[in-house]
Amino acid sequence: MLSKPKGRLFVISASSGTGKTTLARELLKGDKNLVPSISYTTRAPRANEVNGEDYYFVSKGEFSSIRKKKGFLEWANVFGNYYGTPRKEVEEHLRRRRNVLLLIDVQGAKQVKKVRPDSVFIFLAPPSKEELRRRLEKRGTESKKEIQKRLKVATRELDELNDLSLCDYRIVNREIGACYRVLKAIIGAERG
Ligand code: 5GP
Repeated sequence: MLSKPKGRLFVISASSGTGKTTLARELLKGDKNLVPSISYTTRAPRANEVNGEDYYFVSKGEFSSIRKKKGFLEWANVFGNYYGTPRKEVEEHLRRRRNVLLLIDVQGAKQVKKVRPDSVFIFLAPPSKEELRRRLEKRGTESKKEIQKRLKVATRELDELNDLSLCDYRIVNREIGACYRVLKAIIGAERG
């Protein structure tokens, strides 16, 4: 007998400044059976962010206690702050046959792929390093030093993900509308 179908786990990873937040918002808006996973972070909330909606904002102590109890499906230190995906919430969504969207960094995505090989790992690449720099500068949320740091990590990730065995799909985000349509098609084809 076939086992009961479950939801599918979609992991989208991208360098900062690739437009992933906008894309995720649009994908979630148009798909009732796709739910976001809300991560825990030790980063301070930004002005417009809401606890429990954008992230669960916790102290380093709280984060470490959840980690020790194996409460994270994956976790990583991203630019000096800790981020983690809550294991129980994700499993509960999947059990209820919802498709789950994780918007996490490449280190985290690789961990998820290891523990859940059936997840779909989509990497969004910028068209070029120059274009990524331009987008980061235009966004204006990081200092020059931070931008340098992000570009360095992005270059490493891009090189690493040239090895396509690491991710299931690699999309070059040249134009956000086209990128959205490709993402939507992938989710439609792979959904549980
Ligand atoms: P931001 O602080 O700008 O919201 O996010 C910084 C980076 O952390 C982004 O690349 C974002 O995708 C990543 N991130 C957010 N939540 C998680 C998580 O739960 N795990 C991992 N590994 N990365 C995350």
